[in-house]
Amino acid sequence: MTEILRYVSCNLVFMVLLLVASVFVVFFLALYINERRKAGKYQRELKKTTGFVSAFGDNHRCIHALLRSGEQRIIYLSPNFNTMLGIEPERVLADVEVLREAVSKQAAREIIKSLEKWDRISPLDIETDYMGAGGESRHGRLVIERTDSDGLYLVTFMDITEEYELRQKLRNELDEAHRESQAKSDFLSKMSHEIRTPMNGILGMLNLAKVHISSPQTAKDYLDKAESLSQFLLTLINDILDMSRIESGKMELESVAFDLFEMADKLNSMFKSTMERKGLRWEIQMQDFDIRYVVGDELRLTQVIINFISNAQKFTPAGGTVSVTFRQMGRLEGKLHLMVRVRDTGKGIKSDFISRIFRPFEQEDASTAHHYGGSGLGLAIADNIIRLMNGEIIVDSEEGKGTEFVVYVTLPVADTDQTLPENIDTKVEIIKAEALRQAVDEATLNGLHILLAEDNDINAEIAIELLEMEGAVIERACDGQEAVNMFLASAEGEYDAILMDIQMPNMNGWEATKVIRMSGRKDADLLILAMSANAFVEDKRYSIEVGMNGHISKPVDFDEVRRIIGEQLYLRRNGKDA
Ligand code: ADP
Repeated sequence: MTEILRYVSCNLVFMVLLLVASVFVVFFLALYINERRKAGKYQRELKKTTGFVSAFGDNHRCIHALLRSGEQRIIYLSPNFNTMLGIEPERVLADVEVLREAVSKQAAREIIKSLEKWDRISPLDIETDYMGAGGESRHGRLVIERTDSDGLYLVTFMDITEEYELRQKLRNELDEAHRESQAKSDFLSKMSHEIRTPMNGILGMLNLAKVHISSPQTAKDYLDKAESLSQFLLTLINDILDMSRIESGKMELESVAFDLFEMADKLNSMFKSTMERKGLRWEIQMQDFDIRYVVGDELRLTQVIINFISNAQKFTPAGGTVSVTFRQMGRLEGKLHLMVRVRDTGKGIKSDFISRIFRPFEQEDASTAHHYGGSGLGLAIADNIIRLMNGEIIVDSEEGKGTEFVVYVTLPVADTDQTLPENIDTKVEIIKAEALRQAVDEATLNGLHILLAEDNDINAEIAIELLEMEGAVIERACDGQEAVNMFLASAEGEYDAILMDIQMPNMNGWEATKVIRMSGRKDADLLILAMSANAFVEDKRYSIEVGMNGHISKPVDFDEVRRIIGEQLYLRRNGKDA
């Protein structure tokens, strides 16, 4: 019995031990299975969340990480971490703080701030600067999104440097476009103000003249003021048109041979008498030239120099000096380095204004326009023209002492066949020029038979009245076609000249001129002058190109009409070489 009992108790201990062991085995097995299941779940989650794990290895532009927020633990890092950020993934797994190495302190602060504000439900999407694997500065986008499984977040960091740079570039361009558009509307409102001011003055003066019509002297004073305001308005409109052509890139330069000496001579005749009248000493000189013909845009270069001289004249009080120097600075590989300096002993320019002097509508102060007139556009136009010529303008001025504007341009030397004959007799030239000047001074329209092609009734009325007052006999055509018909119907030599508007219905003035020139009549080469509101230099050039003899811009200066007709008829009568 005892034997049986001992056997049973032994087996019981054994069975208990066996049971305990089995329980342990089952427990550890369950634990193991659970861990495997968890790991399998992670793997499944990982696959489900990323789906392209194998592609990470060599991706330089995007890294991924999975983190479990509750455990504050990174459970996966894509292997290209090192390629993109230059940080070993193991280091990050050991201590996430090493990520600070990839960003600046400022960027780190901003990321932390965003993380603190993040609701952890909607995706967090931020951009930051960071340091690439090679230590270079780059730009990235960090996105953290919740996955389907609880507490698991997918972190994606993409390099968007190229996109960011493109965005920056577009933003800069947009800003620039905004600035330009703002500058344009400022220009427009300034322009509108500048035009309205003299316009207001003109209308006011005309009203006053009407009121005082019974007192001729007072009425005349008002009319004189209206006239000078109109002149100012005209200059302003021309400047504004030039400026807008420059701004829209429509100003084109011509390349034609011209004589620098003749250019200086024209400037001399233009300013000599007004300088004398103002009591200014005036000199113009040519220095170091061994050639005189160059290729370029004479009209535009002259326009720039005229602006400098007019300013010098305007800002220099009586007793002062205005001097212009043309100098050949050098000649290299068929190019002439030209300097034109306009110097005055006038009021000078404040040093802080010099940096703004070439901006449109800039004048030294509010009193400048009041005392000296002007609109502040001349130098902006001059600067643009000289830039188009690849030249430069240098300004030097001392308040109270005077100012100097110097233009440097390089112009091709004209072909030798365009240069002056060596043996030209200067004495004969001077006599011829004198005779022409006298003829122009004495010119009269008395008895001349003129065909006026003008579609606008008011303009026609003014022209007819003024020309008839000069003694001319006028016939009017209302468009280009009618002008052609009247010319063809006239006896040969019946008209001394045609004054031709350009924009007319049926046939414009340029077309009409071409038809007349091609008509085959003996008098097809009669004097034709454009008289047009098309006032751009390009229009004037085109008038000459189609065969007109000159171009007078509207509003018409009838003294100029008389001078030009006188000069042209004198040259015809005495031969072109007169
Ligand atoms: P405007 O003469 O029509 O005012 P500009 O653009 O030609 O316009 O000149 C701009 C401003 O530059 C003038 O209003 C004047 O204040 C200053 N300035 C230009 N030339 C001179 C000069 N020779 N002497 C003094 N000030 C000058």
